[in-house]
Amino acid sequence: MQFKRILLKLSGESLMGEQGYGIDANRLNDYAEQITEIHQMGIEMGIVIGGGNIFRGLSGASKGFDRYKGDQMGMLATVINALALASALNAKGTKARVLTAIRMEPVGEFYTKPKAIEAIENGEVVILAGGTGNPYFTTDTGSSLRGIEIEADVFLKGTRVDGVYTADPEKDPNAVKFDTISFDEVYNRGLKIMDLTATAMCMENKLPVMVFNMDVKGNLKKVLSGEKIGTLVHP
Ligand code: UDP
Repeated sequence: MQFKRILLKLSGESLMGEQGYGIDANRLNDYAEQITEIHQMGIEMGIVIGGGNIFRGLSGASKGFDRYKGDQMGMLATVINALALASALNAKGTKARVLTAIRMEPVGEFYTKPKAIEAIENGEVVILAGGTGNPYFTTDTGSSLRGIEIEADVFLKGTRVDGVYTADPEKDPNAVKFDTISFDEVYNRGLKIMDLTATAMCMENKLPVMVFNMDVKGNLKKVLSGEKIGTLVHP
């Protein structure tokens, strides 16, 4: 395995599958299967899950919601997804613990770095819910932050695209995928792998980011086995 401890980011939007809203049971089960597979191989992990399948503060604000409250709604949405993932993992016999960035026992324990590391070292999958706990941030930034805190070797960004391209592959048929690219080049070419805050944190703290398509079954294991899928963004 090329990485021992990972921070896996799952997008909330992917979790809704073809439904257009909420949680698709098949997609959830597929994620739980893929995670269980790598957990059984001894990979240590923290998982951050988004909330875009339920609510996003920014899109709420464009419809007249107060941004601060909308972001709090978005953070609560990530907690709903985290609970769903924990229960899907438990159903497969995989121990999973939800730690929340906002205090809300008994829904989840309040996150601290030592608690997360202790659970990881005990062989549990740790689901880090509630993003950073602050409005005006994203779960990508939450992933960068938690990835650095849990001392992950890599931030695996599970998306619906299979890597970083020279241009948007859905708009430009000549777009070419990178196998690897540096943070500097991502910046110089104006490529968007995630928001700037998240990218800057990874760059400054030398946390590589692997962008890959999590919605293809078996990809998570492949990416960890070093198969040439996805794009590795390196310091
Ligand atoms: N959010 C927030 N602070 C955080 C993380 C998330 O306020 O630290 C809110 C924000 O409103 C965001 C929503 O939670 O739109 C859902 O997260 P995100 O959009 O990152 O989810 P994804 O796009 O991965 O589904």
